[in-house]
Amino acid sequence: MTSPILHLANTNVIDPTQVDPPRDLYIQDGKIIAPPADNQPTQTIDLTGHTILPGGIDMHTHLVTPAMAALRTLQEHVIPDIVCNQLIGTPTWLRDQYLKLGITTAIDAAIMPGDAPAAKLGLRELEPLNTGFLLLLSHHADLLAMINAGHMVAASQLAIKLFHNAGAMGIKLVNPGSMQTMDGPAVDVLDIDQTVQDMQATPRQVLTFFLDISDKLNLAHPVHIHLPQLGTPDSSPTTCQWLDAMSGRRAHIAHLQYHCYTYDEDWYLRSDVERVLKHLHANPQITADVGLTSFGPAYGMTADLALHDRLVELFGDEVGPTLRFQWEGRTSFGLQPLDRDPANLGYAMQWATGLELILLVDNLNQLSLSIDYPNGGAIASYPQLIRCLMDKSYRDAILDQAHPAATQATQLKRITRQLSFDEILQLTRISPAHALGLKNKGNLHVGSDADWVIYPDSILKTGDFSQSPTRVMINGQFL
Ligand SMILES: [Zn+2]
Repeated sequence: MTSPILHLANTNVIDPTQVDPPRDLYIQDGKIIAPPADNQPTQTIDLTGHTILPGGIDMHTHLVTPAMAALRTLQEHVIPDIVCNQLIGTPTWLRDQYLKLGITTAIDAAIMPGDAPAAKLGLRELEPLNTGFLLLLSHHADLLAMINAGHMVAASQLAIKLFHNAGAMGIKLVNPGSMQTMDGPAVDVLDIDQTVQDMQATPRQVLTFFLDISDKLNLAHPVHIHLPQLGTPDSSPTTCQWLDAMSGRRAHIAHLQYHCYTYDEDWYLRSDVERVLKHLHANPQITADVGLTSFGPAYGMTADLALHDRLVELFGDEVGPTLRFQWEGRTSFGLQPLDRDPANLGYAMQWATGLELILLVDNLNQLSLSIDYPNGGAIASYPQLIRCLMDKSYRDAILDQAHPAATQATQLKRITRQLSFDEILQLTRISPAHALGLKNKGNLHVGSDADWVIYPDSILKTGDFSQSPTRVMINGQFL
């Protein structure tokens, strides 16, 4: 017996990867198929007045790490007052947040090998959202010990075994080359060729080791790297050094916005987006997600303990309790509630610099939209950030209310570019699918997964993703 064929008729198919998208789509067994020659569709739905888009992809988020589970426990049982309910909820709440925004795929960007079995179970709670996760290997104690001892063959065998056992879709590195220890402050990598703390291998050697592992595993998503010096006022030289260190090899940089800062001659904080973009443009095989931030509540949730130490130093207990988690013999995650006030210099700069990065890049192919939830704010903040990219007067009105540094020390006010609807689809569908190596997602080609969202045609004029889609289909099933 042949499987049923669903026919969506007279619809406005929006897919910038096709020159002349069809007006009719056919679905069978969860895939888009060519118009059937003799097989009559089992069901036809007339979608006159409606627009179909590929489902959105959030390629760097945090869904089921133990730190998220801890936040949920705090919210439910311990100290509900300090957990912001716009930010943290049950897995099904999280799933619904994504579906409301037309996002049908979300990737958890950091799961430790020991947490992988629980993460896989946790992700099932988010079904039918398509999910996956990246395996955080830069902190693994045994692996680091082998690399330090120069036992590279054994280290390579262990890394490959950990990867296969976990069932991840890619490898994540956080501040590679810095040891993450329980005792004493964590230390950031300053130079890619200088060893840090007790490490015997340089950060470049650690990076090269993992780039080789990714090649051996033939991963569609290249090594996904959280660079050193995140959020520091002099991060950009390090960022440029690391971009060039890939030497033509594929890599993905996490939340690039936080790595684009410098000082001017008077030691004032400045955005250094132009310089970072020069190095990104010179390395077209590298992709990045942006790590936009919104104003309002967020959680600094990170496996970068040097960063966490800086957050603790800056904010202490003023904004809420600081939590640190230990797994597999070493500290692995820190958690810090944040409240991004537009009047705060640092927060205003982060908001403006992220937008600047997108609006100045030569090729949007290299960038994906991300907020690194919950670090950049609530999932529900995506529509407002998209509007900032599409509407200069709207973003300027917010800029005018923010700390003056956001105007003086970034180029945002001078940028006139407003992204088109197709360019938003590039940032939220095409680029993340390309970076993740998901050929069957982010587009509406024959053979691709039937993951899409349907809106009234007015979405094309308004670009307003705060309105929920009329219908959502994932893997060929309407929700
Ligand atoms: Zn992250």
